[in-house]
Amino acid sequence: MPQRLTKRGEERTPISGDFDVIVCGASFAGLAVARQLAGTEARVLVLDRYEIGERQTSACGIPTEWLRALGLEDSGRQEFGELVVHTPHGTSRYELPWTFSTFDYPQLCELLWAQADAEFETATVNGRSGETVHTERGDLSAPLIVDALGWRRILASDGGYQPPDAPLSRGLEVHPESSGDDLEIWIDRRYVPAGYGWCFPAAEEQRIGVGSFDPRFHVKETTVLLAEDLERPPVRYQGNWIPHKLRAGTEDRIFFVGDSAGQCLPLTAEGIRTALYFGIMAGNELRDVLDGRQDRGRALRNYAEFVDAHESKFRWMLRAQRLLPRLPARVQRALIRAAGRKRFVDWAFGHYLRIAPPSYAWEHAPLPDRREPAPLRAAA
Ligand SMILES: Cc1cc2nc3c(=O)[nH]c(=O)nc-3n(C[C@H](O)[C@H](O)[C@H](O)COP(=O)(O)OP(=O)(O)OC[C@H]3O[C@@H](n4cnc5c(N)ncnc54)[C@H](O)[C@@H]3O)c2cc1C
Repeated sequence: MPQRLTKRGEERTPISGDFDVIVCGASFAGLAVARQLAGTEARVLVLDRYEIGERQTSACGIPTEWLRALGLEDSGRQEFGELVVHTPHGTSRYELPWTFSTFDYPQLCELLWAQADAEFETATVNGRSGETVHTERGDLSAPLIVDALGWRRILASDGGYQPPDAPLSRGLEVHPESSGDDLEIWIDRRYVPAGYGWCFPAAEEQRIGVGSFDPRFHVKETTVLLAEDLERPPVRYQGNWIPHKLRAGTEDRIFFVGDSAGQCLPLTAEGIRTALYFGIMAGNELRDVLDGRQDRGRALRNYAEFVDAHESKFRWMLRAQRLLPRLPARVQRALIRAAGRKRFVDWAFGHYLRIAPPSYAWEHAPLPDRREPAPLRAAA
Protein backbone atom coordinates (compact mmCIF):
# COMPACT_ATOMS: atom_id res chain seq x y z
CA MET A 1 0.00 0.00 0.00
CA PRO A 2 1.39 3.45 -0.83
CA GLN A 3 2.07 5.49 2.30
CA ARG A 4 -0.41 8.36 2.68
CA LEU A 5 1.36 11.57 3.49
CA THR A 6 -1.38 14.06 2.76
CA LYS A 7 -3.07 15.74 5.66
CA ARG A 8 -6.57 14.37 6.20
CA GLY A 9 -9.71 15.26 8.15
CA GLU A 10 -9.13 17.70 10.98
CA GLU A 11 -5.52 18.30 9.97
CA ARG A 12 -6.82 20.06 6.88
CA THR A 13 -7.48 23.30 8.71
CA PRO A 14 -9.10 26.29 6.92
CA ILE A 15 -6.81 28.41 4.76
CA SER A 16 -7.29 31.86 3.26
CA GLY A 17 -5.23 34.77 2.06
CA ASP A 18 -4.05 36.99 -0.76
CA PHE A 19 -1.02 36.08 -2.82
CA ASP A 20 0.82 37.47 -5.82
CA VAL A 21 0.62 34.15 -7.67
CA ILE A 22 -1.35 30.96 -7.05
CA VAL A 23 -0.10 27.89 -8.91
CA CYS A 24 -2.72 25.13 -8.78
CA GLY A 25 -1.10 21.72 -9.24
CA ALA A 26 2.31 20.62 -7.99
CA SER A 27 3.42 18.14 -10.62
CA PHE A 28 5.65 18.78 -13.64
CA ALA A 29 3.89 21.88 -14.99
CA GLY A 30 3.16 23.56 -11.66
CA LEU A 31 6.61 22.96 -10.21
CA ALA A 32 8.27 24.25 -13.39
CA VAL A 33 6.27 27.49 -13.11
CA ALA A 34 7.09 27.86 -9.39
CA ARG A 35 10.80 27.27 -10.05
CA GLN A 36 10.89 30.12 -12.57
CA LEU A 37 9.59 32.50 -9.89
CA ALA A 38 12.41 31.82 -7.41
CA GLY A 39 14.11 34.98 -6.20
CA THR A 40 11.29 37.36 -7.14
CA GLU A 41 10.32 37.94 -3.50
CA ALA A 42 6.70 37.62 -4.57
CA ARG A 43 4.23 35.65 -2.45
CA VAL A 44 3.75 32.51 -4.49
CA LEU A 45 1.44 29.75 -3.27
CA VAL A 46 1.45 26.27 -4.80
CA LEU A 47 -1.58 24.03 -4.15
CA ASP A 48 -2.12 20.34 -4.69
CA ARG A 49 -4.55 17.81 -3.25
CA TYR A 50 -1.54 15.60 -2.38
CA GLU A 51 1.91 16.27 -0.97
CA ILE A 52 4.55 17.12 -3.54
CA GLY A 53 5.71 13.95 -5.30
CA GLU A 54 3.20 11.74 -3.50
CA ARG A 55 1.20 10.46 -6.49
CA GLN A 56 2.99 9.37 -9.63
CA THR A 57 0.87 9.30 -12.78
CA SER A 58 3.44 8.49 -15.40
CA ALA A 59 6.08 6.01 -16.57
CA CYS A 60 8.46 8.93 -15.98
CA GLY A 61 10.49 8.72 -19.16
CA ILE A 62 12.14 11.87 -20.55
CA PRO A 63 15.01 12.85 -22.88
CA THR A 64 18.01 12.71 -20.54
CA GLU A 65 19.19 16.17 -21.51
CA TRP A 66 16.05 17.64 -19.96
CA LEU A 67 17.09 16.23 -16.58
CA ARG A 68 20.53 17.77 -16.97
CA ALA A 69 19.16 21.12 -18.13
CA LEU A 70 17.06 21.43 -14.97
CA GLY A 71 19.66 20.03 -12.56
CA LEU A 72 17.55 16.91 -11.95
CA GLU A 73 20.11 14.24 -12.91
CA ASP A 74 20.08 12.68 -9.43
CA SER A 75 16.50 11.54 -9.98
CA GLY A 76 17.51 9.56 -13.11
CA ARG A 77 17.23 5.79 -12.75
CA GLN A 78 18.17 4.29 -16.11
CA GLU A 79 19.42 5.67 -19.42
CA PHE A 80 18.75 4.22 -22.88
CA GLY A 81 20.44 4.83 -26.22
CA GLU A 82 18.06 2.55 -28.13
CA LEU A 83 14.33 2.13 -28.55
CA VAL A 84 13.08 -1.40 -29.21
CA VAL A 85 9.84 -1.57 -31.22
CA HIS A 86 7.93 -4.87 -31.30
CA THR A 87 5.16 -5.66 -33.81
CA PRO A 88 3.47 -9.02 -34.47
CA HIS A 89 5.69 -9.37 -37.54
CA GLY A 90 9.09 -8.58 -36.05
CA THR A 91 11.22 -6.36 -33.83
CA SER A 92 13.27 -3.26 -34.75
CA ARG A 93 15.95 -1.53 -32.72
CA TYR A 94 16.29 2.22 -33.24
CA GLU A 95 19.58 3.74 -32.26
CA LEU A 96 18.51 7.13 -30.89
CA PRO A 97 20.36 10.38 -31.63
CA TRP A 98 19.88 11.35 -27.95
CA THR A 99 19.32 9.26 -24.88
CA PHE A 100 16.12 8.78 -22.97
CA SER A 101 15.98 8.23 -19.19
CA THR A 102 13.55 7.00 -16.62
CA PHE A 103 13.48 8.86 -13.31
CA ASP A 104 12.10 8.61 -9.80
CA TYR A 105 8.97 10.77 -9.52
CA PRO A 106 9.13 11.77 -5.80
CA GLN A 107 12.81 12.62 -6.11
CA LEU A 108 12.37 14.68 -9.26
CA CYS A 109 9.52 16.65 -7.67
CA GLU A 110 11.59 17.21 -4.55
CA LEU A 111 14.53 18.49 -6.59
CA LEU A 112 12.32 20.86 -8.59
CA TRP A 113 10.65 22.10 -5.43
CA ALA A 114 14.05 22.76 -3.84
CA GLN A 115 14.70 25.22 -6.68
CA ALA A 116 11.53 27.19 -5.88
CA ASP A 117 11.00 29.45 -2.88
CA ALA A 118 7.20 29.34 -2.81
CA GLU A 119 4.72 28.32 -0.10
CA PHE A 120 2.82 25.06 -0.38
CA GLU A 121 -0.52 23.81 0.90
CA THR A 122 -2.39 20.56 0.33
CA ALA A 123 -5.91 21.47 -0.76
CA THR A 124 -8.34 20.23 -3.37
CA VAL A 125 -9.16 22.95 -5.88
CA ASN A 126 -12.84 23.03 -6.76
CA GLY A 127 -13.10 26.05 -9.04
CA ARG A 128 -12.66 29.77 -9.35
CA SER A 129 -14.53 33.06 -9.45
CA GLY A 130 -12.53 35.92 -10.89
CA GLU A 131 -9.27 36.11 -8.97
CA THR A 132 -10.42 33.77 -6.21
CA VAL A 133 -9.58 30.08 -6.19
CA HIS A 134 -12.05 27.92 -4.27
CA THR A 135 -10.58 25.00 -2.39
CA GLU A 136 -12.04 22.52 0.07
CA ARG A 137 -10.07 24.35 2.80
CA GLY A 138 -11.18 27.86 1.87
CA ASP A 139 -10.84 30.64 -0.70
CA LEU A 140 -7.53 32.14 -1.81
CA SER A 141 -6.94 35.11 -4.10
CA ALA A 142 -4.25 36.30 -6.49
CA PRO A 143 -4.12 38.45 -9.61
CA LEU A 144 -1.95 35.79 -11.30
CA ILE A 145 -3.36 32.25 -11.36
CA VAL A 146 -2.00 29.14 -13.05
CA ASP A 147 -4.01 25.98 -13.74
CA ALA A 148 -1.50 23.11 -13.78
CA LEU A 149 -4.09 20.65 -12.49
CA GLY A 150 -3.90 18.18 -15.34
CA TRP A 151 -6.38 17.16 -18.06
CA ARG A 152 -9.50 18.25 -16.17
CA ARG A 153 -8.69 21.97 -16.74
CA ILE A 154 -10.60 22.69 -13.56
CA LEU A 155 -10.28 26.49 -13.66
CA ALA A 156 -11.78 26.77 -17.15
CA SER A 157 -15.20 28.33 -17.44
CA ASP A 158 -16.59 25.49 -19.58
CA GLY A 159 -16.30 22.88 -16.83
CA GLY A 160 -13.36 21.09 -18.49
CA TYR A 161 -13.32 17.75 -20.32
CA GLN A 162 -15.59 14.81 -19.58
CA PRO A 163 -14.28 11.40 -20.69
CA PRO A 164 -14.93 9.49 -22.81
CA ASP A 165 -16.43 12.23 -25.03
CA ALA A 166 -13.27 14.32 -25.24
CA PRO A 167 -9.92 14.17 -27.06
CA LEU A 168 -8.35 12.04 -24.36
CA SER A 169 -6.29 8.86 -24.49
CA ARG A 170 -6.17 6.53 -21.54
CA GLY A 171 -3.10 4.95 -19.98
CA LEU A 172 -2.58 2.35 -17.30
CA GLU A 173 0.57 0.73 -16.03
CA VAL A 174 1.87 -1.67 -13.39
CA HIS A 175 5.17 -1.39 -11.51
CA PRO A 176 6.60 -4.82 -10.68
CA GLU A 177 9.85 -4.91 -8.77
CA SER A 178 12.05 -6.30 -11.52
CA SER A 179 14.75 -5.08 -13.87
CA GLY A 180 15.43 -4.88 -17.58
CA ASP A 181 17.91 -3.43 -20.05
CA ASP A 182 15.72 -2.18 -22.89
CA LEU A 183 13.28 0.62 -23.44
CA GLU A 184 10.55 -1.27 -25.32
CA ILE A 185 7.25 -0.53 -27.00
CA TRP A 186 4.68 -2.83 -28.61
CA ILE A 187 2.54 -1.83 -31.58
CA ASP A 188 0.29 -4.82 -31.51
CA ARG A 189 -3.51 -5.10 -31.69
CA ARG A 190 -3.42 -7.91 -29.12
CA TYR A 191 -2.75 -5.18 -26.58
CA VAL A 192 -4.57 -2.21 -28.06
CA PRO A 193 -6.25 -1.48 -31.43
CA ALA A 194 -4.97 2.12 -31.51
CA GLY A 195 -2.09 2.93 -29.22
CA TYR A 196 0.88 1.07 -27.85
CA GLY A 197 2.20 -0.95 -24.95
CA TRP A 198 5.46 -0.18 -23.17
CA CYS A 199 8.00 -1.46 -20.72
CA PHE A 200 10.26 1.21 -19.19
CA PRO A 201 12.81 -0.20 -16.75
CA ALA A 202 13.77 2.12 -13.90
CA ALA A 203 16.53 0.34 -11.96
CA GLU A 204 14.63 -1.46 -9.23
CA GLU A 205 11.25 -1.60 -11.01
CA GLN A 206 9.73 -1.88 -14.47
CA ARG A 207 6.86 0.29 -15.66
CA ILE A 208 4.69 -1.86 -17.93
CA GLY A 209 1.60 -0.34 -19.44
CA VAL A 210 -0.80 0.17 -22.30
CA GLY A 211 -2.06 3.46 -23.73
CA SER A 212 -5.12 3.70 -25.96
CA PHE A 213 -5.79 6.67 -28.22
CA ASP A 214 -9.44 5.61 -28.11
CA PRO A 215 -10.81 6.59 -24.69
CA ARG A 216 -13.50 3.90 -24.95
CA PHE A 217 -11.01 1.05 -25.09
CA HIS A 218 -10.40 -0.27 -21.58
CA VAL A 219 -6.73 -1.03 -21.05
CA LYS A 220 -6.81 -2.97 -17.80
CA GLU A 221 -7.06 -6.47 -19.27
CA THR A 222 -4.38 -5.89 -21.86
CA THR A 223 -2.04 -4.22 -19.36
CA VAL A 224 -2.30 -7.44 -17.34
CA LEU A 225 -1.79 -9.45 -20.55
CA LEU A 226 1.40 -7.56 -21.42
CA ALA A 227 2.75 -7.97 -17.88
CA GLU A 228 1.96 -11.68 -18.02
CA ASP A 229 3.59 -12.03 -21.44
CA LEU A 230 6.70 -10.49 -19.88
CA GLU A 231 6.34 -12.85 -16.90
CA ARG A 232 6.01 -9.98 -14.47
CA PRO A 233 3.29 -9.69 -11.80
CA PRO A 234 0.66 -7.00 -12.51
CA VAL A 235 1.08 -5.09 -9.26
CA ARG A 236 1.07 -1.45 -8.15
CA TYR A 237 -1.33 0.03 -10.70
CA GLN A 238 -1.51 3.61 -11.78
CA GLY A 239 -3.34 5.25 -14.62
CA ASN A 240 -4.87 8.43 -15.90
CA TRP A 241 -6.46 10.15 -18.87
CA ILE A 242 -4.02 11.78 -21.26
CA PRO A 243 -5.09 14.75 -23.41
CA HIS A 244 -4.07 14.47 -27.05
CA LYS A 245 -5.22 17.81 -28.39
CA LEU A 246 -3.55 21.13 -27.76
CA ARG A 247 -5.88 23.70 -26.17
CA ALA A 248 -5.71 27.45 -25.65
CA GLY A 249 -2.94 28.42 -23.25
CA THR A 250 -5.05 31.10 -21.60
CA GLU A 251 -8.68 31.80 -20.88
CA ASP A 252 -10.08 34.80 -19.07
CA ARG A 253 -7.14 35.64 -16.75
CA ILE A 254 -5.83 32.10 -16.24
CA PHE A 255 -2.61 30.52 -17.51
CA PHE A 256 -3.12 26.83 -18.39
CA VAL A 257 0.06 24.77 -18.39
CA GLY A 258 0.81 21.09 -19.06
CA ASP A 259 -2.05 18.62 -19.51
CA SER A 260 -4.60 21.31 -18.63
CA ALA A 261 -3.67 22.93 -21.94
CA GLY A 262 -3.44 19.60 -23.80
CA GLN A 263 0.33 20.01 -24.08
CA CYS A 264 1.02 16.26 -24.01
CA LEU A 265 2.30 15.22 -27.44
CA PRO A 266 -0.14 13.13 -29.50
CA LEU A 267 1.08 9.75 -30.83
CA THR A 268 3.82 9.31 -28.21
CA ALA A 269 1.84 10.60 -25.17
CA GLU A 270 5.00 12.30 -23.97
CA GLY A 271 3.82 15.10 -21.71
CA ILE A 272 6.50 15.63 -19.09
CA ARG A 273 9.06 17.60 -21.01
CA THR A 274 6.34 19.68 -22.68
CA ALA A 275 4.82 20.43 -19.25
CA LEU A 276 8.27 21.57 -18.10
CA TYR A 277 8.88 23.53 -21.31
CA PHE A 278 5.59 25.44 -21.32
CA GLY A 279 5.88 25.79 -17.52
CA ILE A 280 9.21 27.59 -17.95
CA MET A 281 7.68 29.91 -20.54
CA ALA A 282 4.62 30.71 -18.41
CA GLY A 283 6.84 31.22 -15.35
CA ASN A 284 9.01 33.70 -17.22
CA GLU A 285 6.01 35.72 -18.31
CA LEU A 286 4.74 35.82 -14.72
CA ARG A 287 8.18 36.80 -13.52
CA ASP A 288 8.18 39.79 -15.85
CA VAL A 289 4.84 40.89 -14.39
CA LEU A 290 6.15 40.56 -10.83
CA ASP A 291 9.28 42.52 -11.75
CA GLY A 292 7.13 45.28 -13.25
CA ARG A 293 8.38 44.77 -16.81
CA GLN A 294 4.90 44.05 -18.20
CA ASP A 295 1.28 43.83 -17.11
CA ARG A 296 -0.86 40.72 -16.78
CA GLY A 297 -2.65 41.25 -20.10
CA ARG A 298 0.63 41.32 -21.96
CA ALA A 299 1.86 38.19 -20.18
CA LEU A 300 -1.35 36.35 -21.05
CA ARG A 301 -1.05 37.35 -24.71
CA ASN A 302 2.62 36.36 -24.94
CA TYR A 303 2.01 32.97 -23.40
CA ALA A 304 -1.09 32.31 -25.54
CA GLU A 305 0.86 33.19 -28.70
CA PHE A 306 3.78 30.96 -27.68
CA VAL A 307 1.42 28.02 -27.20
CA ASP A 308 -0.40 28.74 -30.47
CA ALA A 309 2.91 28.82 -32.33
CA HIS A 310 3.25 25.08 -31.57
CA GLU A 311 -0.20 24.21 -32.90
CA SER A 312 0.90 22.90 -36.32
CA LYS A 313 3.43 20.49 -34.79
CA PHE A 314 0.83 19.11 -32.40
CA ARG A 315 -1.64 18.83 -35.30
CA TRP A 316 0.82 16.78 -37.37
CA MET A 317 1.45 14.46 -34.45
CA LEU A 318 -2.31 14.05 -34.01
CA ARG A 319 -2.71 13.21 -37.71
CA ALA A 320 -0.05 10.52 -37.37
CA GLN A 321 -1.81 9.22 -34.26
CA ARG A 322 -5.04 8.88 -36.24
CA LEU A 323 -3.46 7.44 -39.40
CA LEU A 324 -1.00 4.82 -38.10
CA PRO A 325 -3.50 2.54 -36.30
CA ARG A 326 -5.60 2.37 -39.48
CA LEU A 327 -2.80 0.85 -41.55
CA PRO A 328 -2.72 -2.94 -41.93
CA ALA A 329 -0.28 -4.60 -39.49
CA ARG A 330 2.11 -5.65 -42.26
CA VAL A 331 2.25 -2.08 -43.63
CA GLN A 332 2.90 -0.80 -40.10
CA ARG A 333 5.72 -3.31 -39.76
CA ALA A 334 7.23 -2.33 -43.15
CA LEU A 335 7.09 1.35 -42.19
CA ILE A 336 8.63 0.73 -38.78
CA ARG A 337 11.46 -1.29 -40.34
CA ALA A 338 12.11 1.32 -43.05
CA ALA A 339 12.05 4.09 -40.45
CA GLY A 340 14.83 2.31 -38.56
CA ARG A 341 17.52 3.56 -40.98
CA LYS A 342 20.01 5.64 -39.03
CA ARG A 343 19.70 8.78 -41.12
CA PHE A 344 15.93 8.76 -40.88
CA VAL A 345 15.95 8.07 -37.12
CA ASP A 346 18.38 10.96 -36.55
CA TRP A 347 16.26 13.28 -38.66
CA ALA A 348 12.87 12.24 -37.18
CA PHE A 349 13.97 12.13 -33.55
CA GLY A 350 15.90 15.38 -33.96
CA HIS A 351 12.73 17.13 -35.18
CA TYR A 352 10.72 15.49 -32.45
CA LEU A 353 13.07 16.71 -29.70
CA ARG A 354 13.02 20.25 -31.12
CA ILE A 355 9.26 20.53 -30.44
CA ALA A 356 10.33 21.17 -26.82
CA PRO A 357 14.13 21.28 -26.86
CA PRO A 358 16.24 21.02 -23.71
CA SER A 359 18.23 24.05 -24.90
CA TYR A 360 15.16 26.11 -23.96
CA ALA A 361 15.63 25.17 -20.30
CA TRP A 362 19.33 25.99 -20.42
CA GLU A 363 18.64 29.38 -21.97
CA HIS A 364 15.90 30.27 -19.50
CA ALA A 365 17.41 29.22 -16.19
CA PRO A 366 15.71 31.48 -13.58
CA LEU A 367 18.89 32.04 -11.60
CA PRO A 368 22.42 32.31 -13.00
CA ASP A 369 23.61 28.80 -13.85
CA ARG A 370 27.30 28.27 -14.45
CA ARG A 371 26.92 24.73 -15.81
CA GLU A 372 27.41 24.22 -19.51
CA PRO A 373 25.07 22.15 -21.70
CA ALA A 374 26.71 18.97 -22.96
CA PRO A 375 26.43 18.17 -26.67
CA LEU A 376 23.32 16.10 -27.30
CA ARG A 377 23.63 12.35 -27.49
CA ALA A 378 26.08 10.58 -25.28
CA ALA A 379 25.01 6.95 -25.57
CA ALA A 380 27.72 4.47 -26.49
C1 LIG B 1 0.17 5.68 -17.47
C2 LIG B 1 0.84 6.92 -18.01
C3 LIG B 1 2.18 6.89 -18.34
C4 LIG B 1 2.80 8.05 -18.84
N1 LIG B 1 4.14 8.01 -19.13
C5 LIG B 1 4.77 9.12 -19.58
C6 LIG B 1 6.18 9.11 -19.81
O1 LIG B 1 6.86 8.12 -19.57
N2 LIG B 1 6.76 10.26 -20.27
C7 LIG B 1 6.03 11.39 -20.51
O2 LIG B 1 6.60 12.39 -20.94
N3 LIG B 1 4.69 11.43 -20.27
C8 LIG B 1 4.05 10.33 -19.80
N4 LIG B 1 2.70 10.39 -19.52
C9 LIG B 1 1.99 11.67 -19.68
C10 LIG B 1 2.35 12.57 -18.47
O3 LIG B 1 2.15 11.84 -17.28
C11 LIG B 1 1.50 13.85 -18.42
O4 LIG B 1 1.48 14.47 -19.66
C12 LIG B 1 2.11 14.78 -17.35
O5 LIG B 1 1.98 14.18 -16.08
C13 LIG B 1 1.46 16.16 -17.36
O6 LIG B 1 1.98 16.92 -16.28
P1 LIG B 1 1.08 18.03 -15.55
O7 LIG B 1 1.93 18.60 -14.49
O8 LIG B 1 0.46 18.91 -16.57
O9 LIG B 1 -0.15 17.23 -14.94
P2 LIG B 1 -0.20 16.09 -13.84
O10 LIG B 1 1.09 15.35 -13.79
O11 LIG B 1 -1.44 15.31 -14.12
O12 LIG B 1 -0.33 16.88 -12.47
C14 LIG B 1 -1.51 17.49 -12.05
C15 LIG B 1 -1.37 17.79 -10.57
O13 LIG B 1 -2.57 18.44 -10.15
C16 LIG B 1 -3.05 17.82 -8.98
N5 LIG B 1 -4.49 17.95 -8.98
C17 LIG B 1 -5.37 17.46 -9.88
N6 LIG B 1 -6.62 17.83 -9.57
C18 LIG B 1 -6.52 18.58 -8.44
C19 LIG B 1 -7.47 19.29 -7.64
N7 LIG B 1 -8.78 19.30 -7.92
N8 LIG B 1 -7.01 19.98 -6.59
C20 LIG B 1 -5.69 20.02 -6.27
N9 LIG B 1 -4.77 19.36 -6.98
C21 LIG B 1 -5.18 18.65 -8.06
C22 LIG B 1 -2.58 16.38 -9.06
O14 LIG B 1 -2.50 15.79 -7.75
C23 LIG B 1 -1.22 16.54 -9.72
O15 LIG B 1 -0.18 16.71 -8.77
C24 LIG B 1 2.05 9.24 -19.02
C25 LIG B 1 0.69 9.27 -18.68
C26 LIG B 1 0.10 8.11 -18.15
C27 LIG B 1 -1.36 8.17 -17.77
